[in-house]
Amino acid sequence: MAINLSAFEQVKAALAPFQAKLVAVSKIKPVADIQALYDAGQRIFGENYVQELADKQPRLPADIAWHFIGHLQSNKVKYIAPFVDTIHAVDSIKLLQEINKQAGKHQRVIHCLLQVYIAAEETKFGMDEQELLQLLDAWKAAENTFPHIRIAGLMGMATNTDNETQIRKEFHHLKALHTSIKETYFREHDYFKELSVGMSGDYLLALQEGSTMVRIGSLLFGARL
Ligand SMILES: *Cc1c(COP(=O)(O)O)cnc(C)c1O
Repeated sequence: MAINLSAFEQVKAALAPFQAKLVAVSKIKPVADIQALYDAGQRIFGENYVQELADKQPRLPADIAWHFIGHLQSNKVKYIAPFVDTIHAVDSIKLLQEINKQAGKHQRVIHCLLQVYIAAEETKFGMDEQELLQLLDAWKAAENTFPHIRIAGLMGMATNTDNETQIRKEFHHLKALHTSIKETYFREHDYFKELSVGMSGDYLLALQEGSTMVRIGSLLFGARL
């Protein structure tokens, strides 16, 4: 058992003044570690792999809010649609349509975050701003055909660097984009409010720059070897 309860308390204390949510990222970690953090009070857990999440979910308490934070292929949505609360890395209208369809089969509503590419690195998933606006236009034009999803906000990952100025700049930029999209597309929808940014190494910066949801793994569960 390697969960770090003092780090858990520290993170919660840091989040409290911002009223931000903690997604405990449990990928690759055993069910026993997730149960231990659940017993300490945590209810939101994030996973990256469909098969792993589908295996773990029935073995853990039913009131866990599961967030899928990895890259999701359309043909795998059906395996998590019966129970997943939020999908963080939506990057196409096709994926949004499939989530809506699969959620509908279970009479559910799944919260979706749109992944925006903010890092300077080449390898990250996500949409650039133009692709994001195209997706939002397509959604807006057919809004009533998406009753089983809620676009709850944006998600991003900063460049993997020690350069705080750069990380802060990337978070700041995403927050500004969030504000302008909220005004343009969601003036009548309170549910567009989440900004999912910040991980173990940069969550304090992310909170200062407007994060409402941090995704923290290694700090709570130990390094993933
Ligand atoms: C693994 C992962 C995290 C957690 O990273 P840590 O550095 O361990 O906190 C957060 N977000 C995404 C998308 C991840 O894949």
